[in-house]
Amino acid sequence: MRQKIVAGNWKMNKTLDEALALASEVSNMVKDEVNTDVQVILAPSFISLTAVGKLIEGQKRLALAAQNCHHKTSGAYTGEVSVDMLKSIGVSFVIIGHSERRMYFNETNEQLAEKTNLLLQNNIRPIFCCGESLEQREKGIHIDFVKQQLTESLFHLDTNQLQKVVIAYEPIWAIGTGKTASTEQAQEMHEVIRKHIASKYGEAAAAEVSILYGGSCNPTNAPELFACKDVDGGLIGGASLKSRDFVSIVK
Ligand code: PGA
Repeated sequence: MRQKIVAGNWKMNKTLDEALALASEVSNMVKDEVNTDVQVILAPSFISLTAVGKLIEGQKRLALAAQNCHHKTSGAYTGEVSVDMLKSIGVSFVIIGHSERRMYFNETNEQLAEKTNLLLQNNIRPIFCCGESLEQREKGIHIDFVKQQLTESLFHLDTNQLQKVVIAYEPIWAIGTGKTASTEQAQEMHEVIRKHIASKYGEAAAAEVSILYGGSCNPTNAPELFACKDVDGGLIGGASLKSRDFVSIVK
């Protein structure tokens, strides 16, 4: 079901105490919020997941997300965290395929297809990130590149499974740079993504998929980005680390 979603990706920030303080501020602020049709998601680091999960338990507005998971079920993968483990602590969403993981940890579209399968088997919804580099945009190959990311990681799913996936379009050149995509650039790619999904799953199914924008989204630019027809919310990095900014984006 197409939902409005604002997710905070805290990346490698916040100690346990800091994470709890931020989660409790956000929780208190969104409690009284009238805009109740927005699903708010917090994605702290692995070490804070359990504690933040306990803190927000029972708060319907808030859901817990991890920032990654391993693509295999279990075994000799030192330092990694499995989908089973995330399920055991009540995680409902997992961000996968963030460009930082694709870039620094060489994650491939094939591994992301495996992660998607494991998550859906465990009733956890993937937040699947896609997006092009500045070089690809300048060469004019950005649209084909993003379509290929979607095809190779998601198009083996059936319609029911596909609709559980939240897609986050994050142009790499806009992440953490202060350079946001213009509303035209964001809407254009979101429409491309929805039409690409429609080409395989049909328009009715594509209309039910939530597509978030990410990349230097802040309280000032969020209203115009979120007003775009095919933008259903945002995946927020830097601005999610301050409760006031994050909640202002939710509003
Ligand atoms: P940013 O990060 O908001 O700091 O640009 C977004 C993201 O990487 O999800």
